[in-house]
Amino acid sequence: MTSARRKAAKVVIVGGGFAGLYAALTLQKELESALVEVTLIDRRNYFTFTPLLPEVAAATLGSAHVSYPFRLLAKKAGFRFLQAEVSGFDLDARTVRIGSPSIPYDYLIVALGSVPFFFGNPDLESHSLPLTSVPDAVRIRNHVIRLVERAVAEPDPDRRRELLTVVVAGAGPSGVEIAAELHHLIHTVLLKYYPLDPALFRVVLVDGADRILLHFDRKLAEAGQKELTERGIELRLNTRVTGATAADVELNGGEERIRTHTLIWTGGTQPNPALVHLRVAKTPRGAVETDDFLNIPTHPEAYVIGDAAAVTDRRHSRLYPPVAPVAIRQGVRAAGNIVNAIQGRAPEPFLFDFTGNIVGLGGGVALVNLLGIKFHGRLGWLFYRMAYLQRLVGLKNKVALVFTLGLNALFDRDISCET
Ligand SMILES: Cc1cc2nc3c(=O)[nH]c(=O)nc-3n(C[C@H](O)[C@H](O)[C@H](O)COP(=O)(O)OP(=O)(O)OC[C@H]3O[C@@H](n4cnc5c(N)ncnc54)[C@H](O)[C@@H]3O)c2cc1C
Repeated sequence: MTSARRKAAKVVIVGGGFAGLYAALTLQKELESALVEVTLIDRRNYFTFTPLLPEVAAATLGSAHVSYPFRLLAKKAGFRFLQAEVSGFDLDARTVRIGSPSIPYDYLIVALGSVPFFFGNPDLESHSLPLTSVPDAVRIRNHVIRLVERAVAEPDPDRRRELLTVVVAGAGPSGVEIAAELHHLIHTVLLKYYPLDPALFRVVLVDGADRILLHFDRKLAEAGQKELTERGIELRLNTRVTGATAADVELNGGEERIRTHTLIWTGGTQPNPALVHLRVAKTPRGAVETDDFLNIPTHPEAYVIGDAAAVTDRRHSRLYPPVAPVAIRQGVRAAGNIVNAIQGRAPEPFLFDFTGNIVGLGGGVALVNLLGIKFHGRLGWLFYRMAYLQRLVGLKNKVALVFTLGLNALFDRDISCET
């Protein structure tokens, strides 16, 4: 049968983050549109480049640098986009529910990502600012600037100090980046324009482990730790954030309380609770257990990828971590296995080896581990910028990033409070 006469396979991808988007782009690249009809569903109408969210929260970049409309990508790549919240899956009938209509599929890719995890503590959830999306980043930026404005008018020095104290829970890559970026914003821009005593500002980074960046090379993480401490960021290691109110943060079950109105939460994530609609085997954390080909074992036409999936790296007997490079490669592999299935070839297992990792520390400094070669400082920063510039989605966003960084070198960042 010629490709023109064969019925196009319907592929539905739920979630347009790193995993889902790269699956859609790969499918459209690999197959003629006569062979496949790809529909990407997401509750937002834009893709979010999460690694740069800390820079949006610190006003280094704007929200337009890190978001890209799916409609533009869909038109260019040739897939269909639907903005909708997924409310159910029927794996036997092969349909995805979005409100009342059900979307039929031949192949399904679930890439719903993860959400913040508050260890079941409702106080932490209601009194903290998470950082997982563009609205979260903009909220943090506005919140910090609004409190600095209030501090100027506050006569009581203790209350002023509370308003100027930022606590960040979790010293993984996003916690380290947001603490460093906010500290940089305070000391390079805010102190220039607000008549406030620099000694009143505090940025406190709290983590239960004995060091920052637990999954990084120890020496590199220690170099980062030294850099942050020298700048004046307070590191509270072997310490857990166990509670919060509107006016303070509780450490180690009440051993200590820090008076503050700003708790930024990067203390943990869990697979998206929307996966509850997928009634298949899951880990205790709620990630879907897949086989080596990224399939749901009982439904070989359905794939789960990215942060939503628990995929075992059998060579090292451990799960792949929830990070962007894994999500991207799983998107490419799941798409490749659908192409294999359509073309009658055997599926290939998912295998991924890390080439390194990067963390930006703001102020022109980054930590880099590239194929075991470790470096930091200015060279690290240059590499960090180049790596994210290359990965950023959309030429317009890349040009805007370069342009804005140039402007930032000449002018101060925008500190207008948007709400
Ligand atoms: C602030 C921050 C910084 C990070 N920095 C790094 C970094 O520097 N390096 C790195 O490797 N990783 C980083 N990560 C982790 C990385 O972002 C994730 O591992 C990656 O995004 C996972 O991709 P994903 O496609 O599985 O999920 P996501 O990218 O989260 O995408 C999930 C998609 O599903 C959509 N969705 C969710 N629920 C529904 C629903 N019910 N219906 C429809 N659509 C829905 C969402 O809108 C989203 O578009 C960072 C994460 C954050 C939050």
